[in-house]
Amino acid sequence: SLRMTRPPSVLIHGGAGTPESWSDGCEQAAEVALASLAENDDALEAATAAAVSLENDGRFNAGWGSTLRLDGETVEMDASLMTSDGRIGAVAAIPEVIHPIRVAREVLDCPHILLAGEGALRFAQNSGLEVRPDGPPPRVRERFERTRKKIEKAGDLGAVNVRWQGVDGKRLWNFPDPAPNWLPGCDTIGAVVRDSQGRLAVSNSTGGAVPMLSGRVGDSPLPGAGFWCGPEAAVCATGIGEEITKHLVSKTVYDWLAEGVSPEEACARAVALFPETIHFGLIVLTATGGASGSNTTMAQARA
Ligand code: ASP
Repeated sequence: SLRMTRPPSVLIHGGAGTPESWSDGCEQAAEVALASLAENDDALEAATAAAVSLENDGRFNAGWGSTLRLDGETVEMDASLMTSDGRIGAVAAIPEVIHPIRVAREVLDCPHILLAGEGALRFAQNSGLEVRPDGPPPRVRERFERTRKKIEKAGDLGAVNVRWQGVDGKRLWNFPDPAPNWLPGCDTIGAVVRDSQGRLAVSNSTGGAVPMLSGRVGDSPLPGAGFWCGPEAAVCATGIGEEITKHLVSKTVYDWLAEGVSPEEACARAVALFPETIHFGLIVLTATGGASGSNTTMAQARA
């Protein structure tokens, strides 16, 4: 039978709040996705490959570059994948691995859709996935120091995230080691891909938000919140995860697109849900179009 084929399409973001000058990292991930499509013509594999590329970069808050939690030492990451035929794989609060998206890819082929914490880590180890080298890249440590200083100077965790205004960090502290004396931003990566057969996929990977307690899970591994994909569209969100989750942003945007709202209009509507103090961004791809939106700077690429 004759099958209509279309040129494949890829849209990448490097996180709400990332400088646009980092878009070269997104362009590289877009190239990786296109090369994967040229080889396999499979949106899922291409979206996974794009996320791996960004997890390797070290600048973005995902994989190797993941932001440190409030203890200034450890990371817990979230990642997810979904396809237009309804397959989902996700991990939440996974420590130690370098490619959470690869673990999400393994979960997608198992009976569950979301694995968390230690169980997710052991699942990853059973699948033979690579573990992080000791210590984060230097810039992750520098970023943590800047965050720490801002909090210390303001005497308020709200200095780096409005959701934390006036919050008693010492009372909430839940790490094994005692809370530091200084206690009184965020970003992530994502890709949406369409292959030549019109199949769509979304990938999402993040080190989480700042500040972050132990065990905190954001929107990124939650279906409908940080991501959604179906026959009509692939949607991927970035920004303060708790706020994104409250609005169930990705499923909401998907439904707008399914009703015939244009990608541009859907992105504008989504951005309008958030005040400027709540960093937010998204990328969407449909059968025929694609768009992005954000209320702050956001590294991105399209191919
Ligand atoms: N949405 C991610 C989270 O809250 C962070 C981000 O997109 O910047 O974990």
